[in-house]
Amino acid sequence: PPSLHAEELSMTDFVLGTVCTVRLMEGGSKATLDEAFSRLRTIEDRMSANRDDSDISQVNVMAGKKPVKVSEDTFYVISKALEYARLTNGAFDPSVGPLVKLWNIGSGDEKVPPTEKIMAAKALVDWRQIVLDTTTRTVFLKKPGMALDLGAIAKGYAADEIEKILLNHKVKSAVIDLGGNVFVFGSKKDKSSWRIGIQNPESERGEYLGIVSAGQMTVVTSGVYERYFIENGKRYHHIMSTQTGFPVDNDLISVSIVSKSSIDADALSTALFVLGIEKGMEFLKQFPDTYAIFIDKDHNVYLSPGAGKVFTLQDKSYRYAEKCYC
Ligand code: AMP
Ligand code: MG
Repeated sequence: PPSLHAEELSMTDFVLGTVCTVRLMEGGSKATLDEAFSRLRTIEDRMSANRDDSDISQVNVMAGKKPVKVSEDTFYVISKALEYARLTNGAFDPSVGPLVKLWNIGSGDEKVPPTEKIMAAKALVDWRQIVLDTTTRTVFLKKPGMALDLGAIAKGYAADEIEKILLNHKVKSAVIDLGGNVFVFGSKKDKSSWRIGIQNPESERGEYLGIVSAGQMTVVTSGVYERYFIENGKRYHHIMSTQTGFPVDNDLISVSIVSKSSIDADALSTALFVLGIEKGMEFLKQFPDTYAIFIDKDHNVYLSPGAGKVFTLQDKSYRYAEKCYC
């Protein structure tokens, strides 16, 4: 059950597959928190790939058969995801469902699937076979066996939706933390900048390698440490290459995005992770006021142009890479 911490007006609950906290620092009431969490649960009910009655599961069950009408929420998030699929040429692909299900990373008893199964699942991943009809608000997956998975973008959408609720409730200052997708809202009472820690990908949760400091913003990280298993000394994590059918293997351990829009930051963190440093930096140029921080296995930190204005490195075992994109 959700726990309410009355002294500081914050609420924590397990939603969207993760621990979510909303902390009101100035303005708002318990009703604000109730509305925020009920919104989170609605989004989960509609977009989870693990609930039989969600929009997403219904679309998946009807793959190759017929279009399914979905809620406005779900339609919007799928449209956004498709936009990123188009822009990244399928590096980001919301039809990654068959690979996600096959690998089942995070389930507890994972092993590397047989190659034939990986190839078969990979063949079903193709964003071009997703048909959206705006007039009927339906979604159709053309091939049987195809499946949507919005795990790379739904939390970002959810954070933006809570932002709207905070605005409606005239909240002046708040922190939204959806399992490490952090959104700081409004301004702090003392008017100082917000500070958001970037998780050290190789240590305990809550240990930061650096700090992002700015006004209202969202910081979203995609990392190999979120969900993974180890087999024969090799790490298999949850961000899939739609090219190989295996987890992306490009020396990155995390990518963080700083932005005003959480849905974009969420999609971008995953997309840039898949694209890698070179292509990712190039890709990011089309997004103004959006910064990226890439971390590789050798503890090099790569900043996108302008990111140095908001990011400060703290952990001495990391260093700025020789190659600069700034
Ligand atoms: P994130 O933590 O935001 O980077 O999202 C990772 C999640 O997105 C995974 O757990 C999958 O559910 C899904 N996913 C994995 N690979 C991809 C991909 N290439 N494109 C889109 N979504 C993906
Ligand atoms: Mg993401």
